[in-house]
Amino acid sequence: MVKVTLPDGSILEIAAGTTAKQLADQIGPGLVKVAVAAKLNGQLVDLSTPITADASVQIITLKDDEGLEIMRHSCAHIMAEAICSIWPDTKLVYGPVIEDGFYYDIDLDEPIKPADFERIEKKMCEIIKADKPFIRKEMTKDEALAKLAGDKYKTDNINRTDSDIISFYSCGDDFEDLCRGPHVPSTAKVASSKIMSVAGAYWHGDPTQKMLQRIYGTAWSTKKELDDYLQRLEEAKKRDHRRLGKQLDLFSFNEAGPGFAFIHSKGMIIWNAIVDFLRDMHDKYGYQEIKTPVILNEQLWHKSGHWDNYKENMYFTTVDDVGYAIKPMNCPGLCLIYKTRQHSYREFPMRVAELGVVHRHEASGVMHGLFRVRQFTIDDAHIFCTPEQIESEIIGVIELAFEIYQAFGFENFSIELSTKPEKHIGSDEIWDISTNALKDALEHKTIQYKINEGDGAFYGPKIDFHIKDCLKRSWQLGTIQLDFSMPQRFGLVYTDKDNTEKTPVMIHRAVLGSFERFIGILIEHYGANLPLWLAPEQARILPISEKSNSYAETVQKKLKNAQLRCTCDLSNEKINAKIAKAHSEKLPYMLVVGPKEAQSNSTNVRIRGVQENTTVTIDEFLRITKPKIADKDLSLAF
Ligand SMILES: [Zn+2]
Ligand SMILES: [Zn+2]
Repeated sequence: MVKVTLPDGSILEIAAGTTAKQLADQIGPGLVKVAVAAKLNGQLVDLSTPITADASVQIITLKDDEGLEIMRHSCAHIMAEAICSIWPDTKLVYGPVIEDGFYYDIDLDEPIKPADFERIEKKMCEIIKADKPFIRKEMTKDEALAKLAGDKYKTDNINRTDSDIISFYSCGDDFEDLCRGPHVPSTAKVASSKIMSVAGAYWHGDPTQKMLQRIYGTAWSTKKELDDYLQRLEEAKKRDHRRLGKQLDLFSFNEAGPGFAFIHSKGMIIWNAIVDFLRDMHDKYGYQEIKTPVILNEQLWHKSGHWDNYKENMYFTTVDDVGYAIKPMNCPGLCLIYKTRQHSYREFPMRVAELGVVHRHEASGVMHGLFRVRQFTIDDAHIFCTPEQIESEIIGVIELAFEIYQAFGFENFSIELSTKPEKHIGSDEIWDISTNALKDALEHKTIQYKINEGDGAFYGPKIDFHIKDCLKRSWQLGTIQLDFSMPQRFGLVYTDKDNTEKTPVMIHRAVLGSFERFIGILIEHYGANLPLWLAPEQARILPISEKSNSYAETVQKKLKNAQLRCTCDLSNEKINAKIAKAHSEKLPYMLVVGPKEAQSNSTNVRIRGVQENTTVTIDEFLRITKPKIADKDLSLAF
């Protein structure tokens, strides 16, 4: 008998060799029906895996993210089988899971077109209906290489694994694929799937290699979830920030600088509203602000380690025969400021912010509007402190981050903690102290978090903040990283209580990350219907005819004096056309004025997204809207 510890802490005694599936059955017949895989001592395995020793076991279902991923990956095999049955010359390359779905790279001379999707899906349906089991077979690396001799792609896959045991999965008699697994027990566990698109992709992303076909698919645990997902995609298309940015004259791109955003004046109003808000937050949370040069001598980047670790992503220039690099990060510049004078523990924690412009050379293929750009501004900050101060500083950053996200209307966050990777610098002791400080900070705030074991940077552990937008898309925004490397590389010191010189702990933190990307996210989250405090134009005054133009201008003056961003539409258009135009520009408030309103010093207010319109005096309008702006109220309603 062996002892199995379940996630709730209970212990079951089972016969050695019992499979995970049999265990699920023993726990409950309801569970075995929905089980798709198991986690054995933290390792995801097939349900058919025997449990041979004491272990902790979790049965994985489609309700778990991991279960959904295993199902999606299994669906990639089913799609591959379907494609191979239609085009027997297909050579399979690689079929991983991605967010919301999966893809499979294939080598096939005939191009697969969207018109072929239905045919492939029909074949997939047959395979799913047949409920064929996924069966794992293992062999040594040499045996696997012999078996796949002549298949350059799969041979390459084998050569890239560290493991000496290679596994294959067969699905019925007619399909077998090299794979590490795990998979769902049988094809019928794939509930609702769809092929989404096809694109070209180089083998290993290497442009000197053959262009393959990458077929994208998605799979969900119910038909309803699939339908909801497809609807969210439709909605995302409508909210595409690249389209809205152009329509609303917020920003543009030009081939003179691929990946460099041109922010137009209306875009800058949003930008500056964010900057003003962040500066208020910096004041509240005790940050100083600095600014460091964009171009700095190449030698500095040797010292910082960027030359050795980040060179491919950097821009360089030479002036008077001296090599310079354009900064990809702000921290080395800050270290130079730190070194301009002596520091004492009494100044700590020292929180220094920089809204720094950085350049990072991304491959042209990954560019996507404001989401992936090559020049961007980070809401960067660094904290120098003592090891004892780490926990309270992390708590401060978490509070700051939450306050900022909530002001933008994001309520749905998740947090991931990444711990010591195999390759790292710094003693185990300092890693333990700092990783525990991060954990304690999260626990102190009673924040649920996921641990990414071994996923930290080589120089220290980190916490990442993810938010979900209204289309349930997850965005990694903020990060808090402890750094044991940079202060040492730059020889930064402080004088401690005992009068000795010590190296400070350095914390890198960003809350929004890239301004450009964050503004893109905001535009899509709100479909450009921005909250009042961010709207480039908060109100527009619409006289019903020329006769009311002068009253309209009086109203505008009054609103401007009260610091509202507003214009007057004095065009010769009919009032309905003026309203339609303001509506298409997503104006929060449209103030219609005519002779009646002029007499009573009032306006008829149309509120974005609200059916009824209402008449109020101008003073009343200001009395209601001014606090909305100051409090970052997300609701426009009166
Ligand atoms: Zn697989
Ligand atoms: Zn930094």
